[in-house]
This record gives sequence, C-alpha cells and structure tokens, in this order.
Amino acid sequence: MKVTLRALSAVFSLVLVLSLLVGNLHFTTPSASAASVDKGPKDFLVGFKSNIQTAQINNIKKLGGQVKHQYKFMDTMLVSLPDKAAEALKKNPNVSYVEEDQMAYAIGQTTPWGIPHIKADQVHSTGNTGSGVKVAVLDTGIDASHEDLNVSGGASFVSSEPDAFTDGNGHGTHVAGTVAGLNNTVGVLGVAHSASLYAVKVLDSSGSGTYSGIIQGIEWAVDNNMDVINMSLGGSSGSTALQDANDNAYNSGVLVIAAAGNEGTRGKKNTIGYPAKYASVMAVGAVDSSNNRASFSSVGSELEVMAPGVNILSSVPGNSYDSYNGTSMASPHVAGAAALIMAGNSGLSNVQVRQKLVDTAIPLGDSFYYGNGVIDVYEATR
Ligand code: CA
Repeated sequence: MKVTLRALSAVFSLVLVLSLLVGNLHFTTPSASAASVDKGPKDFLVGFKSNIQTAQINNIKKLGGQVKHQYKFMDTMLVSLPDKAAEALKKNPNVSYVEEDQMAYAIGQTTPWGIPHIKADQVHSTGNTGSGVKVAVLDTGIDASHEDLNVSGGASFVSSEPDAFTDGNGHGTHVAGTVAGLNNTVGVLGVAHSASLYAVKVLDSSGSGTYSGIIQGIEWAVDNNMDVINMSLGGSSGSTALQDANDNAYNSGVLVIAAAGNEGTRGKKNTIGYPAKYASVMAVGAVDSSNNRASFSSVGSELEVMAPGVNILSSVPGNSYDSYNGTSMASPHVAGAAALIMAGNSGLSNVQVRQKLVDTAIPLGDSFYYGNGVIDVYEATR
C-alpha cells in the first residue's frame, strides 16, 4: 500500500515576520550620565548650520578638541572634546547640535515565544540545554549548512533525494530549529539548543513520503541509538507495519513524538492522524500564545499534550527564518522538552520522561481537545 503523507504544516497561511529580522541596528540610549564626571575627552558628532569653514575647525582646536572625521554629504564632524568644551560649542551660533557618539549593536538572536511559553528558558538558566541527547528529525531533511543549526548525522530514505543534509521544502529545517536552534548571535533559539540533531529524510521536497520510508527512518533511529524521534508528519490511515515500527522503537527505549494532525474538528469525530494515534507515540496538538487550541489542531482521545504551534519563528534553508503554523511546529517543542528532561536526568527511561511531561502539563480543558494540557518543561525537570 502506498499512502501519501503530508508534512503537517505550511498548508496554513505562512505568516511572514520578516519585520522581526529587518533593521540591523539596535539603538541604545546614551551610556552613562554624560556630563556628570569629566573623564577626559569624548567623541561628539558636531553639526554646523552651514559649510564648515577653517575658522570653525580652528575654534574647535582652540577649545582643546580634535577633529577625527569630517563627513562628506553633511556639515558634520566627529570631534573628540572635553565635556566643558562640548558645552561651550553648543552655544556657538554656527553650531546646530553637539551629540555624544553612541553605540549601536546588531540585533542578535530572537527567542521565539514558544521557548518561554513552555518554560524552557527557565531550564536553560539552570545550565541544562539538552547536551548529550540525540534527537532524530524524521522529515524533509535538514539544511545542514544553516548558520543556526549543527547537524550531527543522518540518512535519507527518499530514493529520489539521497541527501539528508539538504531540504528542498523547508519543513524539516524549521522543525530542527525549534528542537535545537543554536544559542549564538543569530537567528532563533531552540528548546534544547545543545542537543544533537540527526536528519532522517523520509519526506521529499513536496512534503510527501511513504509509510515504507518512514519505517526505514524509524529503524535507522533505533539502530543509531537515538533518544528521541520527532515525526511532524502523518497520514489518515493506519498500518500494521507502521504501528509495529513505532512500538518497536518505543519498546527499545526511544521516546517517539508526533504531530497530532492538522485536521481540526469535525463534530465529535476523532481527527488524530497516524502515527500519532498509536499508544506508543505521543500525540501533540497546537496552541497559540494565549493557550487556545489552534483551529486546525486535530482532536481525539489519543491527544496527549499541547505545545506552541501558531506563528512559530524558526530556521528555513538559506540562512533564513520564517514563521509557520501547524502541529508540526508543536511536536518539536515536545521533542526538545524531552531532550532537556533526559539531559537533566540520564537515569530516566523513555516511559518515565513521557510520564513527567504528562504529569506536569498545565490542564487547559476538555482532554478531547487539549489532552493533558500544555507542557511545562521546567516543572518536568524539577
Ligand atoms: Ca541562534
């Protein structure tokens, strides 16, 4: 049987938040109280009302100043001056302004809202960032050249796309950034930014793949001692082989996490997809930043926990960043959270880690729609 799967995201409106990334300078307020203590000359930008004359340069020298640069298209100079001289210069009728030079900084890393929402930031502040835990991302591949990702290994089970370290879709790279976006000066921050990422390509660049390929990916993860499998994917039909593969992985000690699906509600119908629906797999639904269930998030009795899945900023190929919606974005929050719990206590089994996530989740209402609630990884690591 060939069943076509779809990556569980991106079909929803991609909300671009490039505004977050545009504008490279962050302007600070002036450092210290400028005029309070005179600690020798400082740099000032001095603007003149008309063309700068030699007499004005001489006047600055007379005040004890030193001209460091004269701008080309403005009647402005960078001048090193003692504070008193700067005050005197402000009173000069030819001068329109005297401003102390200020520092600007590149806008660094953005922390996506999901990180504090699941209290991963509080775990990070204890020093636990997921180091030593192996997370397999079964998806469209991961762009291993991305500035915000370190990919430790992987394999492709898509015959037409043998390279797992490229991602022609973007979905896998986005999921990877949520799990383990690096803590550096760029891009985003992952839930478990020191965890080891593995790219297991089971979906092609259109976001589709076969159950047979996914089963190979699951077996690869077991064979290569992965601690966590994230599957931000699903199909609408069950399969004995797919269930056996997930059961085997879980029974061998791997924590298996999957997106619940983006089928939303259909009356009282269960809309959870496969493999999320299997008992050996954690089914993850999506909430927004107000903890409301995303309208697309699948519902049913197998729904286990909720995590952020609306307007999730993460990495996409080409050293870029974008916001996606989907239970695909929620699942890697749980995968990262599991990595933090495991890194914090290597003695826990996959079953115990799962239980901690469930026991500490914050209830949000009817379990058919919200499972046990939204995860609280700080509480789960305590
Ligand atoms: Ca980063």
